[in-house]
Amino acid sequence: MQVNYYEVLGCEKEASHEEIKRAYHERLLRFHPDKNDASKRDAHRFHEVQEAWRMLGDPRSRRRYDAVRRQEKLEDEGGLVYARLKVDELEESVFGDTLFYRCRCGDRYFVEIEDLSEKNSVLQVNCESCTFIILVET
Ligand SMILES: [Zn+2]
Repeated sequence: MQVNYYEVLGCEKEASHEEIKRAYHERLLRFHPDKNDASKRDAHRFHEVQEAWRMLGDPRSRRRYDAVRRQEKLEDEGGLVYARLKVDELEESVFGDTLFYRCRCGDRYFVEIEDLSEKNSVLQVNCESCTFIILVET
């Protein structure tokens, strides 16, 4: 299990960019190695805080990080993942801005084309009717 950067910053997963930034600055000061009573442990925390900011401070890398974590969590929970797909395995729908994939329950997964614009990410899509999901690699 990799480091949970939200925990490092003491933020909720839903925290806004501003909240994350504030938490980052606060911890940066608290664990700064130049502090008089800085310990080795503080130095380690300081390093982690910087790493967390590098990952969560940028919206794109944050989205990617969130996607990886969601996926790890799902895999830990024992696989409600119905399929892992590439974009070209999705079918075109009558709506020009949406693609779909058939679920084994008979319903469909709908994917908005706009959500596929970010490359090298994994999009998680819930079935309209059951608890299965698909993962779409962009
Ligand atoms: Zn289903």
